Amino acid sequence: MPENPLEKYYNQDYPKQYQNPPGIQKEMDPQPDCGEKSYKGSGQLEGRKALITGGDSGIGRATAIAYAREGADVALNYLPVEEPDALEVKELIEQEGRKAVLLPGDLRDEEFCRSLVQDAVKELDGLDILALVAGEQQAVQDIEDLTTDQILSTFQTNVFSLYWVVQEAIPHLPEGSSIITTSSVEGYNPSPMLLDYGATKSAIVGFTKALSKQVASKGIRVNSVAPGPFWSPLQISGGQPQENIPKFGQETPAAPLGRAGQPVELSGIYVFLASEQASYVTGHVYSATGGLNAN
Ligand code: NAD
Ligand code: MG
Repeated sequence: MPENPLEKYYNQDYPKQYQNPPGIQKEMDPQPDCGEKSYKGSGQLEGRKALITGGDSGIGRATAIAYAREGADVALNYLPVEEPDALEVKELIEQEGRKAVLLPGDLRDEEFCRSLVQDAVKELDGLDILALVAGEQQAVQDIEDLTTDQILSTFQTNVFSLYWVVQEAIPHLPEGSSIITTSSVEGYNPSPMLLDYGATKSAIVGFTKALSKQVASKGIRVNSVAPGPFWSPLQISGGQPQENIPKFGQETPAAPLGRAGQPVELSGIYVFLASEQASYVTGHVYSATGGLNAN
C-alpha cells in the first residue's frame, strides 16, 4: 500500500538546537533519516565509482548509502571536524560489501579540490559519478551585516569548488558518466535572509546547464537536484535562525505537504540521475520540495 506523504516521516515541531557550522548529525534531535534502515537497492549502480561531497550527513549521506546499496564504491568528502558522522557512513557502506574511501578536506581550497579528485580516482581505480552535494548556508537578515568573508566563503564552497572538482575530473570520466550538482528551491525563489546562498544556488543552475551542453559530446550527462526544506545539520547550524527551527518546513518556508523532507526522500533522484535509466536526461534540474515552488 502507498503511504500518506503527509505522515510518512516526522511531521511534528522540531526542538530548537544550535550547533556551530557545519554541525554534527549525530548530535541532532531528532536524527535526520538518511535511509540507514529503509533504503533498499536494486543493482542500479552495480560496479560504478562515485565521489560524493558532503557525504557525511544529510542529503550527501543519503546519497552515499543509496549508491552503496545500488552496488557502487564510494569516496566521501567532508570537513575534518565531521569525522564522527563520516565514520558511520563508512561503516554503512562497508556493510554492503562496497568500498568506502574517506577523503576529508576543505573545498574552498583549489589545491585540495584537485587532490581530492586525484585521490578518489586512485583509491576507486576510476570514477564515473560525481555527486556534488556539499554546501554552506548562513542566514543573515540584513545586507549591511553580510561580511565579505561570508560572501567569499559561500561562493567558494557552493560554486567555485564545482569548477575545480569538475575540471580535474573530466579527463578521468568515461563515456556514460554522470555529474550531479545540488542547487535549491532558494536558487529560484530565494528567502530574503539568504542573499549570498540564494545567489550561489542560482549560479549552480547556470553552471549545470552550460556544462551539460559542453560535455554532452563526451557522453557525460550533467543534472542538478533542487531540494526544498530538508532536515539536516545545515539548517540547525545557522542555515535558519533558531526561531524558524520548530516549524521548519511547516511555516518557514511552508511546504504544502506540511512538513520538512527527510534526506532519504532525495535518494531516489540522486540514484536515478546517476543510473542508466536517465540516459536521455541532461541539463535538467529535478525538484523535491514538498510542493513548495521551485522551477
Ligand atoms: P549537511 O550539513 O548535511 O551537508 C552539507 C555538507 O557540506 C556538510 O556535511 C559538509 O561536509 C559540506 N561542506 C560544507 N562546507 C564545506 C567545505 N568548505 N568543504 C568541504 N565540505 C563542506 O546539509 P544538507 O542539507 O544535506 O546539504 C547538502 C546540500 O543540499 C547543500 O548543497 C545544500 O545547500 C543543499 N540543500 C539543502 C537544503 C535543505 O533544506 N537541507 C535545501 C536545498 C538545498
Ligand atoms: Mg555534515
